[in-house]
Amino acid sequence: MCVFCEIIKGNIPSKKVYEDNDVVAILDISQATKGHTLVIPKKHYANILEIEYPEYEAVMIAAKKVAEKINVVYKPEGFNILNNCGEAAGQTVNHFHVHVLPRYKDDDLNIQFTDHSKDFNLNEIASDLE
Ligand code: 5GP
Ligand code: ZN
Repeated sequence: MCVFCEIIKGNIPSKKVYEDNDVVAILDISQATKGHTLVIPKKHYANILEIEYPEYEAVMIAAKKVAEKINVVYKPEGFNILNNCGEAAGQTVNHFHVHVLPRYKDDDLNIQFTDHSKDFNLNEIASDLE
């Protein structure tokens, strides 16, 4: 059983804030910040590696529309647009989705990518990935 498929079928209630042919956006039941929204393709794909490009594009376009709406209504100071892929990354629902997280001063959410002091060789990694 996939909780997001059940929500899309209408078997589990949700607060829908956006819908088009391919995508729905619902309020996250656990609001990390005010307006925290999940943008979900109607078709089930486990994660970002599985989803097909046209649907991925539809999700990302919807995420921008949702962010624009939240921006007008709540006037946050910023956004995080993020996806967790895999258990190690914190994915808990295995149906691809993008979090639209409005950010407010003093919202006490800590998502940080700078100031990590791991000793990686950037030349080596760039050459591995090119
Ligand atoms: P993940 O950890 O997979 O990136 O995010 C899953 C998100 O789905 C979590 O933020 C969680 O709060 C949300 N979630 C889980 N079950 C439900 C549900 O039944 N309804 C809604 N609206 N959100 C849910
Ligand atoms: Zn699903």
